[in-house]
Amino acid sequence: MVDRPFYAEGLKFSCTRCSSCCRHESGFVYLSENDLSRLANEFKLDYTAFVETWCRWIPFTPGTERLSLKEKSNFDCIFWNNSCGVYNARPLQCRSFPFWGDHVLCSQKAWEAAGRDCPGINNGELHSREEIEGFIRQTEEEPVIEREVRK
Ligand code: SF4
Repeated sequence: MVDRPFYAEGLKFSCTRCSSCCRHESGFVYLSENDLSRLANEFKLDYTAFVETWCRWIPFTPGTERLSLKEKSNFDCIFWNNSCGVYNARPLQCRSFPFWGDHVLCSQKAWEAAGRDCPGINNGELHSREEIEGFIRQTEEEPVIEREVRK
């Protein structure tokens, strides 16, 4: 983490629930162990049943795959139903957006670019540097579930 990142004075963001990040375009919602536990609990399923019903494995690096939620044939998130159907148990990737350290927060330019697709960016509530770095830390502490691909 750099000493004085571009977000040192905080960043404005309030989700307008426009849903453009959850619908219409193909994407991956990767899950950590905590995400899986929360979601399986929400559906009263064990891990295996939840993964078989709601998840898919996405090729990552050669020989590895990462666990993601499925999406519908129209590319909406599998849990989209007029709004997020699992809002209180939504994965960290969704809860921490747009405070993604390896992507949106890597530069001011990347932040502004993300704002072209998300009307919540640069509007609404001011989030402090501490809060932002809390999301970055949590994402580092809760890695996405990954497995080796069997040959
Ligand atoms: S695109 Fe931004 S404002 Fe719209 S739902 Fe996603 S996070 Fe919220």
